[in-house]
Amino acid sequence: MSDYPSLSLSGLYGHDKAKRLLNRSLAAGRIPHAFLFRGPDGVGKKLFAKGLAAALNCRDRRGAEACGLCPSCRKFKSMNHPDFLVISPEKGVIKIDRIRQLGQELTYPPYESKIRVVVLEDVQAMRREAANSLLKTLEEPPDNNMLILTAESSKEVLATIVSRCQVVPFAGLSTADTSAILIARGVAPDAAPLLARLAEGSPGRALLLQHTEMVALWKEVVGVLTDPAVDSDRDVGIILRLAEAVAGLKEDLPAFFGLLRIWVRDLLFGEDSVHLGLPDAHRRKSWNSAQLFAKLQAISRAESELARNCNKNLVCEVLLFSLQ
Ligand SMILES: [Zn+2]
Repeated sequence: MSDYPSLSLSGLYGHDKAKRLLNRSLAAGRIPHAFLFRGPDGVGKKLFAKGLAAALNCRDRRGAEACGLCPSCRKFKSMNHPDFLVISPEKGVIKIDRIRQLGQELTYPPYESKIRVVVLEDVQAMRREAANSLLKTLEEPPDNNMLILTAESSKEVLATIVSRCQVVPFAGLSTADTSAILIARGVAPDAAPLLARLAEGSPGRALLLQHTEMVALWKEVVGVLTDPAVDSDRDVGIILRLAEAVAGLKEDLPAFFGLLRIWVRDLLFGEDSVHLGLPDAHRRKSWNSAQLFAKLQAISRAESELARNCNKNLVCEVLLFSLQ
């Protein structure tokens, strides 16, 4: 797909349920004044918001598809449309002043469109006062405005906000779809599938992961832990050296423990991140379900010890020996 990301909703990868919901809304002409897009970070919620906004304002719309060519679509493509606003958290917070200012902005008619679309990203990052201020706007939105809220699926959003929006669920993409997106963004084809798997189908997260040392270290750790030739009694030095390297990740340690959990879960459910990441997967150690569950518990234990500020080196040493 050469012009990915595309303006057309059907041209975006995955999220069939979200596409069906939005298509149905647009086809019926019953368009709510507020949506809440809920799903993991980096799976395309903002791209969908842009596609929907473009479709609503397209001068030659077919169903839920923006034409991509009219003056309005061209402005959306260059992210230069005066009636498309994106409000993101600043330093992790959406401030009440910004929400009040938005309330003011919405009282003026759109500059040139039928509908002004405002994307409010990561609404879970709003404190209570800001959320209450937003509630007023959600209750009585001025005409010709649509709000698209996005939120990370694992985080709590005020029920009063959720109840005033049509909720559209998003999930992680398939490894194949994520890989295709990564390759279109310049990731090497042989590196893309493992990155896609370790990011659990979030292209955004995969692109961030790519620039850390975590994937290389994951390969090294999993390679040693699954190598039948490595003996935990004889090769203590190898494990200790790896544990030290892992502990050196510091603030990335919780994320790295998450990657180890994906590896163990994949072994448990027959998905194969090891095969994607390491050659000769068939000659590696295998464990039964009870042993794999014990490994998952060891990871959880390490996470809670880390949260309690235990010595990082020690936590990593104990963990790697338990994962052997
Ligand atoms: Zn158009």
